[in-house]
Parts: sequence; C-alpha cells; structure tokens
Amino acid sequence: MEEYVIDIDAENKEIRKRYRALLRACKPTLQKGDKQQIRKAFDLALECHKDMRRKSGEPYIYHPIAVAQIAAEEIGLGTTSIVCALLHDVVEDTHLTLQDIEEQFGKKVARIIDGLTKISGIFDPNSSMQAENFRKMLLTLADDVRVILIKLADRLHNMRTMEFMARHKQLKIASETSYLYAPLAHRLGLYAIKSELEDLSMKYTDPDTYKFIAKKLNEKKAERERFVTDFITPINEILAEQGIEASVFGRPKSIHSIWNKMRKKSIPFEEVYDLFAIRVIIDTDDDKEKTECWKVYSIITDLYRPNPDRLRDWVSSPKGNGYESLHTTVMGPRGQWVEVQIRTRRMNEIAEKGFAAHWKYKESNSDSGLDNWIQKIRDILSNSEQSALDFVDDFKMNLFSDEIFIFTPKGTLVQLPNGATALDFAFEIHSDIGATCIGAKVNHKLVPLSHTLQNGDQVEIITSSKQTPKEDWLNFVVTAKAKSKIRSSLKEEKRRVAEDGKEILERKLKSLKITYNTDNINKISNYFKFPSSQELFYNVAKGSIDIKNLREFVASEKSEDPNHNQFQAHINGLVEKINKKEVDTILIGDDYQQVDYTLAPCCNPIPGDDIFGFLTVNDGIKIHRTSCPNASKLMANYGYRILKAKWASSKNDVAFLTGLRIVGIDDVGLVNKITMVISHEFNVNIRSLSISSNEGIFEGNIMVFVNDTQQLDNLIINLKHIPGITGVTRFEYES
Ligand code: MN
Repeated sequence: MEEYVIDIDAENKEIRKRYRALLRACKPTLQKGDKQQIRKAFDLALECHKDMRRKSGEPYIYHPIAVAQIAAEEIGLGTTSIVCALLHDVVEDTHLTLQDIEEQFGKKVARIIDGLTKISGIFDPNSSMQAENFRKMLLTLADDVRVILIKLADRLHNMRTMEFMARHKQLKIASETSYLYAPLAHRLGLYAIKSELEDLSMKYTDPDTYKFIAKKLNEKKAERERFVTDFITPINEILAEQGIEASVFGRPKSIHSIWNKMRKKSIPFEEVYDLFAIRVIIDTDDDKEKTECWKVYSIITDLYRPNPDRLRDWVSSPKGNGYESLHTTVMGPRGQWVEVQIRTRRMNEIAEKGFAAHWKYKESNSDSGLDNWIQKIRDILSNSEQSALDFVDDFKMNLFSDEIFIFTPKGTLVQLPNGATALDFAFEIHSDIGATCIGAKVNHKLVPLSHTLQNGDQVEIITSSKQTPKEDWLNFVVTAKAKSKIRSSLKEEKRRVAEDGKEILERKLKSLKITYNTDNINKISNYFKFPSSQELFYNVAKGSIDIKNLREFVASEKSEDPNHNQFQAHINGLVEKINKKEVDTILIGDDYQQVDYTLAPCCNPIPGDDIFGFLTVNDGIKIHRTSCPNASKLMANYGYRILKAKWASSKNDVAFLTGLRIVGIDDVGLVNKITMVISHEFNVNIRSLSISSNEGIFEGNIMVFVNDTQQLDNLIINLKHIPGITGVTRFEYES
C-alpha cells in the first residue's frame, strides 16, 4: 500500500474547479434544464467514487470529469452524453445498478451506460476473446453510436494518464489503442483524436524513436515558424484585399505520421519535407462554401505553383466519414513542397470533431456516407460464418484505405476503398451480381475481374448464370463485403464437395478392408496432416488423396519408419543446441526465469532493444521487439499470451542478426567502402547483401550479425560518414 499526503480541502477545491471547467466546455450546447441534469450526474458520480483513487493517487472523480470534458470539447457531444460520461464507471465499479440510473435519468441514459458497462470488460487482459468482443462493440454502433464515442473519450483520457501503470500494462493498452481504437476514431472522422491516440501509443511502444523525433521537431521549431510566416503573409494580404474572411496558419504533423513516412520511404528525419501543413479556414455562408474554397485555391496557386498530381477535391465528393476539404501541394518560396488544406469553418468542425458535428449539420447533408458505412458494418456482422479475427482484419483494411468514386452505366455514384477491383464493384452493387460476374467493361473497354479501378471510372459488369465464386478471387478483392460473401459461398461449396468425398472414401476403405469409423478417419486425417475430417473428404473428392496414398497410410500403420524418426531426433538436437546458446541472454515471465525461446524473424531483436515474449501455439516462446510491426496485433488480440522479457547482462560472444537499409548516390566503389566499414573496422559478419541501383540512386539491404544496439548504433553512425551515403536505417522486417 502506498501512502499519500492528502489535503482534503485543497482536493475538494480542485474538484469544484474541474467541474466548473467542464460546465464551460458544455456551454455551447446547453439548453434549459441541462445544467441541472449535469449537476445531478456529477453529484451522483462524486458520491459513488468518493472512496476511490486512481493509480496516480488522485481522486477517482477526476477521470469521469475529464472524460465528460473530452466528450463535450473535443467530440462536441451534448448533454445526454455528458451525463453518461460522468456516470460511465459507476455501474461497473460501485454498488449502483442500472435500475437506479434509469429511475434517476431515464431510459436513454440507462441504455448508453449499459452499453458502456458491457464493453468495458472487452479488453480484459485475461480474456482470449478480444476480437470477438470488438465485433460486439461495433454491433452497438447500430444501437447508439454515442457508446463508442464516449468509449473513445474514456480511452483517450486513460492514454493521457498512463505513466503510473506497470510497464506490461502500458504496452498492452497502447497496443490495443493503435490496433483498434485509433483506426476506429479515424473512421468516425475524429482526426485530432486519432492522431493523439497514435502518438500516445507510440510513446509507450517505441519510446526511443518517439523521443528522438520529438527532439528533432523541437530543434527546428523556430526555423519552421519563420517559414510559415513568410509563406502565409502574401496570402493574408490578398485575402484582405478581396474581402475574404479566413484564418491561415501552419499545423504540425503528428510524430507518428512522420515516423510512418520515414519508415515507408526509408528516409532520415531531415528528408521528410512535410513536417507541417498550411490550413486555410474560411468564414462564409453555407451556400457560398464551394465557390469560396475554389476562390482561395486560385489565390494560393497564383502565388505558388501547384503540383498537378496532388490536388484532392473532397468538397465536391466528401469522404465516407464526412470529411470535406480541398487539398493541394504547392512549391514554396524556398523550393520545398508545402501541403495546403482549404476548408470552411463548418467543414473544419466536421474534420476535427467528426461524426457528432456531422449530426449537427445533417439537414444540409442528407446522404450521409456514415449511414452507409454503419449499414455496411451491419451487413458484415450479420455474416456469422466469418471468424472474429478475419473480421477484424478485413474491417481494419477498410478503415485504412482511402475511397475512390466509381460510376455505374446509369451514372450512379458508388464509393469503394482505394485499390478496389471490378469484382469488388460487382459485389458492392449486389452479392448475386458479384457471385456470377465473369468480366467488366471499364470506360467501355473489356477488362478481367481482377482489374484495379481508378477514381472516376465508369464500370459495367458482365455476368453469366454458370459462374460461381472461386478461391483465387480472394486474392484480388479488397472490400470486406466481397470477401465475406466469397468465403461463405466457398464454404458452402466445399461442404457439398466434402459430402461426395465422404462417400468415395467409404468405398475406397472398404476395398482396402479398413473399417469406416471415427477413429480411423481421425488417424487418416492426422497422417495426411489435414486439420479436420471435412478437409480430408474434400481432398478425396478433388482426387488429391487417391487409393495409392491410402495404401501408404496402411503401410505406415504397420511399421513406423525408423529413418524418419532418426532424422527428426537429429533436428531436435540441433534446435536444442541453438536454444542453449541463446538461453542465457533473455529472462522471461513475471519472475524473469531462464526459459527456452527463439527470436522472431519479423523484427530480429538484438540486446538493448525493448522486448516481450509471445507464447505461440506450436513454436514455443518467440521474442519480439515492442516496436515490431506485428506487436500491436499480437498484444491486442492475444494479450493473455504475452510474457514479460528482458535482456540479461549482454555477453559479447553471441551475435544477433539485424538488417540495415542504406540509401545513397551511386558511385563506383561504394559497395566496397560499405563492406570495408562493416567487416574491417567493425569486425561484423555480413550474412547477405542485396543492392539495386536505379538512375544513379543506390539502395542496399544488408543483413549483419551484431552484439547489441550500441554496436549497431555506432556502425550506423560510421556508415553515414561514408561520402555519397544519404541514409542508413535499421529495418524491422524483410520486405
Ligand atoms: Mn473509465
């Protein structure tokens, strides 16, 4: 038990102060009687949580007040949501029941609290059902989207105040946040919250990189601010001349998005050119919005040359989540590309606060893309055949991609994710059209089903009644709808074929004088390594298991192959030896024991890296870096299989494999210089080296064995000093 020195009077003063700040945040939406409702909820929450404290030692009531404030200020929610946010932990953590809530605040509030209580246990670290529960949480979208919005506010506040938690809990919560909550916020159009969640998550999963980028950003701050001032001064002058009321300012990009760019393009921080964007927010009447946006566009592109490939018009065709804005990239005065975002005050509010703001303006915006999206989610959810994990993956894929707009032959607009194919379009129109699709005409030209559509294409689908969905279709559809329809009809088809296979197998076994019973069927399935008897029947029907194979099985039953066993023993011995060699270097589990493990090939951890253990189904414990690209997925879905791990004293006689990506200007002898530094100056072994050179740009991927992160960092610094080399980065996975 920790002890705190508590000054009750000071605390009560602070609680009142925070409550008054909340009321100020609610003011814009307050109507008659609302203040009393909020007061009632606050008093009740205060009473219920009066003996509870947070991990930091602060009174618990700070948390619901903060969640309510986020809901009001940053999401723009109204009184009902404020009341629910104040009470969101009351039923979960205290003696108060839903019945009590309903009696005091009515049915609507009780239902939302019920939703919040039900999903609050979702990411319980002891539960193996995260994905399934996530699906349930989205189902409540259909009920009341406020449940999800308040849950996001709750998560945001927990992420902001996580420093007092144990390290493994921080990792788990941060991973779920980047894997599930940030994408969800993105889809609901809450861009500011999404960026903050991503940054906070990175702060815990990859603290070194986070601090590095934050420091770099800070160093150049003054220089950047001067640039922004120089850039916007002439814009402001012309806006004033033409009588357009607008505010123009620079907006820094998030640390996470900068890091993404560095990784994707394998460039150092110095080469990320868009560390900020310029935003123009116009004050105008609703009916002049579009004209004013283009007027401003014209002013800016008269001053600075636009990049014709980088114009995005989400004013004429808003994104599915309601986002409206005009984006362009122009050449700044110092020969540097600058992104400019032009939008009205209304559009900006939708962009910042997302869905809730969208509601407010709904009358003027009748065909809301979000309604479509919720309908789509409902369609996918109602398909119970799909496993929960598949669902989460498909769902996420749809979240991350941007939309394109496709026209039907009659000119109706259909929205699809970027990368969608003709077949996706067919399924989007109707699942029967998708299932019988044999080809398409794109802009009157015949194309195959797998043809990737471009924004603005006009597409006509050609069908045939003889067509049925094929396995390889899954390789080129991207929408969750098409995937789930194809999967379920393949499953149906497979079941039918397996039925035939079962009869064939019965006949064949009879001829081999083997009794047809469950025991034998299981033995045969195991022998051919099929996961289920249905898989076995299916392969029999397809002819890939025939009478010859079955005779092999009969023979194997009689004598276990001694050669085979010997070979396996040898392999086991080798594996053991490798494990023995590494086993001293990492300690695993709550009490840091010495257990066998292997290093995950996806991120190749080396001593000095922040790591964790993951208990696999067939492959023992694997060690990953906390910044591994797979880590967030593993932790978010299988939290109960995560083990604490740390490096023991680093022993320098063990070498670890890691990858370096080197970029530079092609020069004769560059490879030689690189290998000289690596193998002679550093005495490090190179395992493989692949180099490509394109129009004078040199790109090399080198796998080397190093002792720890310190040696690796020194090596990187020395490689960077070679003339002609412009960037050296460690890469996490072989792509
Ligand atoms: Mn909470």
